[in-house]
Amino acid sequence: MTAPENFQHELASTLVSRRTILGATAGGVLLGGITLPTAAHAAPAPRCYTRTEWSARPPKSATQVIGKPDHIVIHHTASPNVTDYSLAAAYKVQHWIQDLHMDTNGWIDIGNQLTISRGGFLMEGRSKSLSSINNGQNVLGAQTANNNSHTIGIEHEGIYVSEDVPVALFDMSALTCAWLCTKYGLDPQVAIVGHRDYNTTQCPGDVFYARLPELRDRVSEIVLG
Ligand SMILES: [Zn+2]
Repeated sequence: MTAPENFQHELASTLVSRRTILGATAGGVLLGGITLPTAAHAAPAPRCYTRTEWSARPPKSATQVIGKPDHIVIHHTASPNVTDYSLAAAYKVQHWIQDLHMDTNGWIDIGNQLTISRGGFLMEGRSKSLSSINNGQNVLGAQTANNNSHTIGIEHEGIYVSEDVPVALFDMSALTCAWLCTKYGLDPQVAIVGHRDYNTTQCPGDVFYARLPELRDRVSEIVLG
């Protein structure tokens, strides 16, 4: 199974632009106790489909904008591992999550700040998430109990208790985490955690959880150049 052609092109252009930016910068910055090149702040934003684009329902009450998070929490949706990798399928799962969180859980809006589909499409979650990230801030989500005030959550479509994560999904997760680490000045080796590190849950599944060290390394590669 492969991601849609246009996705591959977007990913390729993102990587090219990153290299261009990395090649054009010099200097250093202290991050997480180690000195990183200035390029640590240059990882570009991956294409993020906005709430307007996926036709989100409005929140029931105002979103609270808060300061920058210190950790990025990796989740899986525990929904079926669909083989439809289209943008339409991405929008479909995002609506399913929002309806679940608002109608079943009774929350004001979708709980997580970002979602990545099995096809590798990144989407804005809770209202104002994208503008907040771009401003170096966060919105108060509902994704990691007792830790929402200092974390940002990425939902990854699928269930990874025994099956592996699709390549397109893992690749976009790395790009997204790199973007967040540079926006917030976080060390990938410390900042990226699984939901189970905070709460009693199988999330994000044994297989995905076992790949978090690889994800941290991939993100460090992108951030460090
Ligand atoms: Zn979770």
